[in-house]
Amino acid sequence: MSECLFCGIVEGKIKGEIVYRDDSIVAFKDIHPRAPVHILIIPAKHISTLLDLQNEDNGLVGEIFSVANRLAKEQGISTDGFRVVANCGAAAGQTVFHIHFHLLGGRNFSWPPG
Ligand code: AMP
Ligand code: ZN
Repeated sequence: MSECLFCGIVEGKIKGEIVYRDDSIVAFKDIHPRAPVHILIIPAKHISTLLDLQNEDNGLVGEIFSVANRLAKEQGISTDGFRVVANCGAAAGQTVFHIHFHLLGGRNFSWPPG
């Protein structure tokens, strides 16, 4: 998956401002932040979209939310509230096809999203 931008960040071939890393999860700052805190949480292994998740990935998804919980506290957005977003497919606005969860906070968000 050498063509994948986010695999490149995981492998250190593309620069990323990494805020969390373990064997299975990497989190880094979004290059075009849409909120004062905007972090992308991704699995280290390549999975294209939410539709490509397998049952064997259930633990991994749990770990991603565990990292979201930890980072929300570390980044100071847990008290006021924050949002976790996974865009799946073109109509939802997915532009990078390595599954990622946006952690957004530090401002108020409207609902429904645009
Ligand atoms: P999505 O539109 O849900 O696929 O989100 C992709 C996100 O990746 C966007 O918010 C982009 O700003 C972000 N992004 C694209 N390239 C990079 C990069 N090199 N480093 C960090 N974030 C990036
Ligand atoms: Zn990838």
